[in-house]
This record gives sequence, structure tokens and C-alpha cells, in this order.
Amino acid sequence: MNKDKILQLKEELSAHKNIVIIPHKNPDGDAVGSVTALYGYLIQLGHQVNMVSPNDFPLFLKWMEYSELFINYEQDQSVADKLLQEADFIFNLDHNAFHRTGSMEQILGELKGTFVMIDHHQQPDDFANYMYSDTSMSSTCEMIYHFIEMMEDTDRITPAMATAMYTGILTDTGSFKYKSTTSTTLRVAAHLVDKGANSEDINRKIYDVNTPSRMKLLGVALSNLVILEKYRTAYITLSQKELDDNNFRKGDTEGFVNYALSLDGIVFAQIFIEKASEFIIKTSLRSKGDFDVNKMARENWEGGGHQNAAGGKSGLSMEDTVNKLISILPTYENELHAVDI
Ligand code: 5GP
Ligand code: MN
Repeated sequence: MNKDKILQLKEELSAHKNIVIIPHKNPDGDAVGSVTALYGYLIQLGHQVNMVSPNDFPLFLKWMEYSELFINYEQDQSVADKLLQEADFIFNLDHNAFHRTGSMEQILGELKGTFVMIDHHQQPDDFANYMYSDTSMSSTCEMIYHFIEMMEDTDRITPAMATAMYTGILTDTGSFKYKSTTSTTLRVAAHLVDKGANSEDINRKIYDVNTPSRMKLLGVALSNLVILEKYRTAYITLSQKELDDNNFRKGDTEGFVNYALSLDGIVFAQIFIEKASEFIIKTSLRSKGDFDVNKMARENWEGGGHQNAAGGKSGLSMEDTVNKLISILPTYENELHAVDI
């Protein structure tokens, strides 16, 4: 977003507005962090603000301030539809296409309000009146910080907002590990600590909340791990039965795919998780170096994301899904071997 656009948006937001902020479906730390941080900012400007999530999010994100105020579209669709229809402004955070909001896609396409997109994924759709899209950014939370900076309002960052933004940066950078972590990212994180984000506390609330069931499920996932050395690939499957047997709760499989990727010599990892209620297999793809899983997810798994982290789905059985992976890997063999790690 250039300076003129920011000034224009600032002008529009100088009068009272009805605003709805939306994350993507299955919101992660960056989605919940960016939405709640922006909420904390916009209420200070005196607006009427609501947050509508396409569906529920994991317990390990529910300690965040304002997280209890989300309207869950799956549960309260008519309330949410009314708020959306009456909204002057709709902020789409951490996603760049309506279809990433699942069942909210249709209503979003019918709204009269002004759309503001703040997002760091590749290939944004062209729906926003104000578009702040930057694929070089570590996280949408880092972008919310820059957005508030552009609005010349960093003085308004409260400890709750700082905590929310720090959380999203932490989770989307794999704890400041991925190459998206720039010196600016670290400076933003430092500033957020100055503004009241407590790194130790946030890390504990996000990462030290394992349950015995989740540990057991991780054991099952690791015993299902398959290594395809020829393609520098490792994959994991989890069937609905395996999830049910281990009291699966939303968010429990978060990060499992990274164990496959952490193997020495492996440059591509994929996890397949059966979701019987939706008749699909949800998949997450991760890579090291230049191997582009956004491209792979778009070409094969009806999904997308970033170069090193993407997601998608399959409508086939687990067996056929794995066979599909095995059948497409030869196409990527040269790219997989070209990765320098
Ligand atoms: P995860 O594997 O953690 O669900 O997602 C990794 C990245 O891929 C995230 O940035 C997420 O937004 C994106 N992603 C996950 N699932 C999908 C999908 O079905 N479609 C698209 N376009 N992106 C996805
Ligand atoms: Mn993100």
C-alpha cells in the first residue's frame, strides 16, 4: 500500500465505521494474532468492530486477549451475515482469496463494504479496495505492525496487541528460524517486547501445552513416517481412526510435518490427515531451500501457501492419495535434487 492509499484509508477511518475483521479458515497463531491485534487498534479509534472466524481455532490460542470475542461462522452464521452486510469495512487478514474462508466465501462475494487485505501469501486475488500484500513478510502480524506504523500510531500498541503480534511472528517463523525472518522482523519483535510482549510467557503458552493424547498421536505419526530417499522426501499419514483413538482435538497435529522435514537430507515433507466428516484428506507440505511447495500444492492438491509451507486437500482415499504423491514425485525429481542444503 503506497503513501497515498494509506492517507486515504486514514481519512476514511477518521470517521466512525462498522468493521468486521476475518482470518482464514482453521486460524493459526498468525491469523488469530493479527485479527486480535488489529481489533485492539481499531477499537481505540472508536469504531464498532467485530471479529468473525470461519470456524473454531485451537485451545492453545484461546488465552489471547479478545480471542473469546470471535463469532464462529459455523455456529452463528445469521448473526455474522448481518454484521457483514452492515459492515462499512471488511478486513481480510492472513488470506488473499475468499475461498480461504471456507463457507464464508459466498457472502463475502455479495458484500457492498470496502475490503482491506493485509496478507503475505502468494498470488493474491483482486478483490480488495485497499491491498497490502507482501510475500517477503514473515507474517501478517509483522504487517499489522507496519500498518500501524504507516498510520503513525505505534503509540497505541498495548501489551495485549504486542503479545498478539509477537505470537503470530513467533508461530509463522517457526520461532524465528525460517528465512522469512529478516533483521526487520527481529527489530519489530524487539519493539513488541518493549511494548509489553513477554517472550517466555508466550512461548510457554503456545508450545508447552502438550497433552498425553497429543504425545501418543505424535508417536503414531512418527511410526507411520515413510522416507523416500530417491526423492529426498518423507511423508506421514494419520487416519481418522488413529485420530479418534488418541482423542484428537483441533490443533493437535500442528507441527507434526516438521519432524519429517527435520530428517537430514530430506528437502520435502508432507503430512496427510484424514477428515472423514468432510470426506477429504487435509495435507500440509513443507520444504527446505528453493523447492517450491506453493507451486506443488497449487498443481496437485487444490491448495497453496508459501514457497516453504503450503497446504491443500485430496478427495481420494488415503491409499490413493499416497499413490498420487508417489506418482507425481518423478516430475519433481530434478527440482528436489537441485536443492542445496
Ligand atoms: P498449514 O499446512 O500449516 O495448514 O498451512 C501452511 C500454509 O499454507 C499457510 O500459510 C496456509 O495459509 C496455507 N494453506 C494451508 N491450507 C491451504 C489451502 O487449502 N489452500 C491454500 N491456498 N493455502 C493453504
Ligand atoms: Mn501467516
